[in-house]
Amino acid sequence: MDQEMNYGSDYHHIPATSIGSGISTQVLPDVLCHTIQIVNIMLVGNPESNDFVLVDAGMPDSASEIISVTEERFGPDSRPKAIILTHGHFDHVGAVVELVKHWDIPVYAHEQELPFLTGKKAYPEPDATVEGGMIAKMSPMFPNEPIDLGDHIEMLPVDGTIPHMDSFKWIHTPGHTPGHVSLFREEDGALLVGDAFVTVKQENLYKVLTQQQEISGPPRYLTTDWKAAKRSVEKLDQLNPNIAVTGHGLPMTGEVLTNGLAKLVKEFDQIAVPDYGKYVNKHMH
Ligand SMILES: [Zn+2]
Ligand SMILES: [Zn+2]
Repeated sequence: MDQEMNYGSDYHHIPATSIGSGISTQVLPDVLCHTIQIVNIMLVGNPESNDFVLVDAGMPDSASEIISVTEERFGPDSRPKAIILTHGHFDHVGAVVELVKHWDIPVYAHEQELPFLTGKKAYPEPDATVEGGMIAKMSPMFPNEPIDLGDHIEMLPVDGTIPHMDSFKWIHTPGHTPGHVSLFREEDGALLVGDAFVTVKQENLYKVLTQQQEISGPPRYLTTDWKAAKRSVEKLDQLNPNIAVTGHGLPMTGEVLTNGLAKLVKEFDQIAVPDYGKYVNKHMH
């Protein structure tokens, strides 16, 4: 039997939701986005084939929902070839242990994210004092102890390729976390953003509940390096994406995306960076 896997000791169900919860959206012929409470997972691959991957692994307690969404799209007993993680926050790895046990497949993440996924390092505590409303105030209840995926987690190849996701390349977009990645496909400009930026203002409980669209920087209470976060958004803007599927909020396309992203780059310090909080030093920008 392989090495054991564990969630962090503070892992638990989070009672937060949005009106999008439980809804699947076919964003592109080979990209399905499904919302679990407040976070998105993506199934990437042609539904006629059995060659597909899962991007991110949802909230705590969501494994059975993820398995049924997968089987609905790819058929009974279908399983992805791998799970690709944009980063290791609790809302993106919430069901990963059960899924790996059920499917017996590898998980891939960026090298700099591995300490948080192998039980070696905890993420910084969420900043409940940060400027930004109710969700930030709730954030101390979010798990931040590292999970341990043992030998089930592997490093993404250094050449930018992604195993079992041939048409996409990973792009290092640190800031929100050190080893955060976004996934980009040149041919059609499809961008799976993770939390490098999001399309719903995470700090506003009402907007999270109603999924009201508004391009915004990475979720504030968990972002620790705002300089890197800004450079990452600039990097993504330069790719000229046609469609962006973010970790939180609805997928965004066309001019709304282009203009929203341009505005975020130009006014990053005003839009994204909180006015106060323990990971903020506005003089550094
Ligand atoms: Zn995150
Ligand atoms: Zn997130």
